[in-house]
Amino acid sequence: MNRTLLIIKPDAVKRNLIGNILKQILDAGFKMLGMKMVWLTREQGGKFYEIHKGKDFYDWLTNFISSGPIVVCCLKHPEGPKKLREVVGATDPKNAAQGTVRNLYGTSVGENVVHASAPDEDPEREIKFFFDEKEMFEY
Ligand code: UDP
Ligand code: MG
Repeated sequence: MNRTLLIIKPDAVKRNLIGNILKQILDAGFKMLGMKMVWLTREQGGKFYEIHKGKDFYDWLTNFISSGPIVVCCLKHPEGPKKLREVVGATDPKNAAQGTVRNLYGTSVGENVVHASAPDEDPEREIKFFFDEKEMFEY
């Protein structure tokens, strides 16, 4: 599948970075199939990130992702999730390659402005967490 999920996290929404981040990603050749703003409950945040349950940052992460509205996007690209991870950069902004989204805007390993599905962690599950098929469009 060449679909993947992008989340613009609460830190980036609060800092008014939605436009900058989307421009950078769309300019890299992604097509927007679906997009919405949502504010997760703590329980929903914990469910989305359940793969991290038991890790030392899990409680912090579930609080963070539910601390304000987020923008979720289903994106399509011939190289799908792998390509989005490249554009987004490494988890810790300190390690993110020059010019990547996290390099430009991330402020810490936690507050790293975006989520991008990992190719080996079921991007389709993450897309379906937020979107019904009828909320996404091929055009
Ligand atoms: N995270 C954190 N501390 C860490 C590792 C991760 O706060 O030591 C947060 C960070 O927001 C990250 C998210 O947890 O984006 C999910 O972690 P993962 O290792 O899956 O990184 P990602 O896939 O987002 O690059
Ligand atoms: Mg991950």
